[in-house]
Amino acid sequence: MRLATIRLGDRTAAVRVEGDTAVELGVPDVRAVLERGEWRSWAAAIDGPRHPSAAVDHAPLVPNPSKILCVGLNYRSHILEMGRELPTHPTLFAKFADTLMGARDDLVLPAVSDEVDWEAELGVVIGAPVRRASSAEAAAAIAGYTVLNDVSMRDWQWRTAQWLSGKAFEASTPVGPWLVTPDEVGDAADLALRCEVDGMVMQSSRTSDLLFGPADLVAYISQITTLRPGDLIATGTPGGVGAARTPKVFLAPGQVLRTVIERVGECVNTCVAEGDAMKDVDLAVAERRR
Ligand code: ZN
Repeated sequence: MRLATIRLGDRTAAVRVEGDTAVELGVPDVRAVLERGEWRSWAAAIDGPRHPSAAVDHAPLVPNPSKILCVGLNYRSHILEMGRELPTHPTLFAKFADTLMGARDDLVLPAVSDEVDWEAELGVVIGAPVRRASSAEAAAAIAGYTVLNDVSMRDWQWRTAQWLSGKAFEASTPVGPWLVTPDEVGDAADLALRCEVDGMVMQSSRTSDLLFGPADLVAYISQITTLRPGDLIATGTPGGVGAARTPKVFLAPGQVLRTVIERVGECVNTCVAEGDAMKDVDLAVAERRR
């Protein structure tokens, strides 16, 4: 099953995506679906207004998660190529809900950063409250998987030892377009993931190279805090980020950032300069005044 959150005028709606149709579920977003105890059978059966799925406007998959946890270095090849030792524990950091953006939204390059970089990541969506979980309990608490790009402002990230500044820019993290349940994804431990900029492959790896897999991360984080329905975990990124290249490369206005995970989906985001985005906002306001 595939679940998404779409924008419909001034509201959002959770939908079940079935081929070329998106069926409204009568609740505002995917978190509200997952907060229902028996959401799997409920969401699979319920009927509602239908939309052509190719034409929907995707909101962030979960617009309002209670937590977004991200993992730093987590792909073996990337850790080793950076000359680091394999860590014994995952490096965790957090993002705020308003960092999230839709799977097809324009990526606004902040005027204050010259080093906007990509990080293709498998996203894990929590489907039940989970605390102090065993591996099996952790696996059972995973509602499904999604595509996420932990877009990072490197000049801000590396100003200090803590990364938050470069990871917390508003509307900078594409997530979606949908959650795909584990039965449909199959083996999440061996999925191809790829990041392209204007069609050029920048990152290409498999989740089999993850040091800490999805259930490991859920179990580990649940020792610290309760994970709740709709919470997101960004599982880390493989090698090939722009800052690790010689010479370094960063995103520029007009470029198209494509983040793809096999059997899960893809985010496609066009980069725009903040000035241009502001002009669009001004035009929209002028349009409304008319
Ligand atoms: Zn990341």
